[in-house]
Amino acid sequence: MTTVAKFGGSVLSDGTYWQKILKIISQDENRRIAVVSAIGRRFFGDAKVTDLLISFFNAAEDKKNTIWQDVALRYKNIACFFNIDAESLINETYDSMRGKDFSFCVSRGEYLSAKLFSLISGMQYLEAARLIKFDVNKNLLTDLTEQLIFDAVKQGTFVMGGFYGSDTDGNIVLFDRGGSDITGALLASAVNAEVYENWTDVNGFFVCDPRVVLNPHKIDCLSFEQLKILSTLGAGVLHAQSVYPVQKKQITVDIKSIFKPHLSGTLIVPNAPAAQKILGITGRQVKKLFVTQHKTNAHADNALYCCQNCGFCTLLLKETEKEKYFCDGILQKREAGLISIAHSGVKEIAEKTCFALSKQEIKHQLLCNDGGLLLIEINANTVNNAIKTIYSHFFE
Ligand code: ASP
Repeated sequence: MTTVAKFGGSVLSDGTYWQKILKIISQDENRRIAVVSAIGRRFFGDAKVTDLLISFFNAAEDKKNTIWQDVALRYKNIACFFNIDAESLINETYDSMRGKDFSFCVSRGEYLSAKLFSLISGMQYLEAARLIKFDVNKNLLTDLTEQLIFDAVKQGTFVMGGFYGSDTDGNIVLFDRGGSDITGALLASAVNAEVYENWTDVNGFFVCDPRVVLNPHKIDCLSFEQLKILSTLGAGVLHAQSVYPVQKKQITVDIKSIFKPHLSGTLIVPNAPAAQKILGITGRQVKKLFVTQHKTNAHADNALYCCQNCGFCTLLLKETEKEKYFCDGILQKREAGLISIAHSGVKEIAEKTCFALSKQEIKHQLLCNDGGLLLIEINANTVNNAIKTIYSHFFE
């Protein structure tokens, strides 16, 4: 039995967290394969290593060194915590970036995390560029990738950097931001893992953003479909595209916190029991909202949501992309607030939600009521108020 354990940037930002992670790995011999992100924020307002590397690439020549010193210091601090000399690894990485393209430079955070993790833990280093393969158009070659991984990890323990791979010409290709989740899911699928653990600083999905509602309810169990909806709609715990590889193999995803490893997190399973009526409330301000009452050829990834049942589609698109997706029938709305509610399909949720908003005099328009999903348009400046209102109506 194999468990793939992915560790996010926020839990790699301090030596004491690395210590917790090593303990977590050592406590279960099934945890044979680890995936690590680049070091994330150490405190509120701090920059992530990936952001620093983006600035590094864009900076003028005379500014690059200062930015690099910041990156280097993060890794030196971790190495120092474990009494490891990472000087040459860090310097060689710096040298290797000279003249390289954006993707190569930006991927070095994950590269350094995995190299250092391998030095500290003794787990064998797996080079993502050798195993995660894309075609020259940056499309992931899933079957080839899974075969290469399967062949590489037959026995032993391994660590790999997330977020990148390479195309058939050897050029580094990045996933979207947050893409280490996808790497972890690919590894889990390739080795037919029993569980894909996603370790972070929060133990699972909460019904809404804890920055908007204090101590929101945690969701114990979600289906893959529900997770897809929530991730697409902005619940930033797991990358939406990481669902596909694990769903294909029906691998359970367990979202857990390294700070409370003994507590259960959120489990993602093929069919979640409909215990909670509301699974998630997300809200965001959008610059331009396009709604069409007509069938479109929009791909679901471009659409915020296509409501198959009620036959219309809500999209967030750039003005220039409009033509590509629609023939006609676009109702374009400028700045708006969008509230999305994923729920277990209970009919009266829409009615109750609109009632709660009206009671607080929050202007709203129901855009979509599609089985397990409600989309509601509100004024851009009432997003947080609307989330609080809906949450307290259903949970307090
Ligand atoms: N380091 C990348 C990011 O900050 C990828 C990841 O963390 O998953 O987006």
